[in-house]
Amino acid sequence: MTNDLTLDPSDWDTFRASAHEMLDASLDQMMAARDGRVWNPLPDAQKEALTAPLPRKGSDINAQMQALLPHGVGNTHPRFFGWVHGSGTPSNVIADITAAAMNANLGGRDHGANYVEKQVVDWCRQIFDFPDDSSGLVVSGTSIATLIALKAARDRITDFESRKTGCPAKLVGYTSTQTHSCVARTFDILGIGSDALRKIPVNADFEIDCDVLLDEIENDRAAGNTPFVIIGTAGSVNIGAIDNLDRIADICESENLWFHVDGAFGATGMLSDHVRPKLTGLTRADSIAFDFHKWLHVNYDAGMIMMRSEDMHRRSFSERPDYLKGADRGLAAGNPWPTEYGPELSRGFRALKVWAQLATHGTDKLGALITQNCLQAQHLAHLIDSTDEFERLAPVPMQICCFRFAPSAAAPAQLDLLNDEIVMRLQETGIAAPSTTLLNGKNAIRVNITNHRTTFADLDLLVEAIQKIGHEILAEWT
Ligand SMILES: *Cc1c(COP(=O)(O)O)cnc(C)c1O
Repeated sequence: MTNDLTLDPSDWDTFRASAHEMLDASLDQMMAARDGRVWNPLPDAQKEALTAPLPRKGSDINAQMQALLPHGVGNTHPRFFGWVHGSGTPSNVIADITAAAMNANLGGRDHGANYVEKQVVDWCRQIFDFPDDSSGLVVSGTSIATLIALKAARDRITDFESRKTGCPAKLVGYTSTQTHSCVARTFDILGIGSDALRKIPVNADFEIDCDVLLDEIENDRAAGNTPFVIIGTAGSVNIGAIDNLDRIADICESENLWFHVDGAFGATGMLSDHVRPKLTGLTRADSIAFDFHKWLHVNYDAGMIMMRSEDMHRRSFSERPDYLKGADRGLAAGNPWPTEYGPELSRGFRALKVWAQLATHGTDKLGALITQNCLQAQHLAHLIDSTDEFERLAPVPMQICCFRFAPSAAAPAQLDLLNDEIVMRLQETGIAAPSTTLLNGKNAIRVNITNHRTTFADLDLLVEAIQKIGHEILAEWT
């Protein structure tokens, strides 16, 4: 016997019993997703326990992890309606355990995990009708996917000179005023600068105005700028609007621009018979950024970049120094490597939970759940429209319904504060968790339903709670 140090358990039976206990606690938590509060803030004592000094000695942490389990943001609860969060699945817990056990690094080399990612990329080709020689990479989310796509678009317009010499000053790109902030952030990170992102106004349906877009492109060319990309949105963050992607594809073709689509949640609508017809033109994109952790409920985090041209994708990112040299045999085989398609070298096995979600549940059911959420949003819109005290503030193209509580008893000047306060109390009482946004200068209660646990009855309950709380606040204010 030696005294060699290791991090493996000294007693596997004890470790196994403790692991099973933690798994049971995790599944109990998921089984009870409907019970109790939506948002369950972390108690002060637990916050305090997380300000401990750096531990010099190890200890058993199962109790502390179990105590943490109920204190998520609430997105596993059927009445979590805030922002755009997916609700996760119990089956993905098992995939995460498997991935952790393999401890795979998917930067490159020839090993089992990379073949799972290749399978996921191929499934995405089938979803978006992308060519066999297109490429893709599983990433943390749409923000990083956008960065990868727009870097390739930038490098293409400079014939890949920008990889060495940086960004020429006059590149400009276009998107709508409704676009997600990750697009401007990407312009910033890529050295193009967020001022070079032209935010085109939208029509009454919150879709980009393509006539103004064409004028802007012309103005920029006349001013000596170099347009290089249009970013269309398939599911805007505020209301779920889908730009006219076919028209944008036409414009990109005639103007020789890169056509990128932010489809963070909306692109997965390809799996839904209800949403797919609205996404015409998506399959013509040069690149699509989207998330698995939103409408496909893969447990955080997992997103994807799909790129029509594998060649441009690789030329924008490939960098193979001597110590990462490829080979036809041995561990250095399996080329090209995933690291040639994005900024990361070491990469975890996110692909496994994506593969597991699609393989376990199948795209028919995942698509039917997307349809169900859209029908639920329509049900909510109907409740709002048929109740005098409510005012709907936007159309409902997919799964988001924006409205405000506006009873005649409330003065117009009170409405913004009133609706903010309603949402605050819904969250704080743990009844439900919508968020808010500003639409045409009006403060809206924003209900986003990317949740496979939500029932129609949850929405009835939400509307009743808003009315009750709204009147309580008004009574306090008078
Ligand atoms: C959520 C979202 C993003 C950002 O995606 P992350 O996965 O959070 O990085 C971008 N665009 C839209 C439309 C979104 O809804």
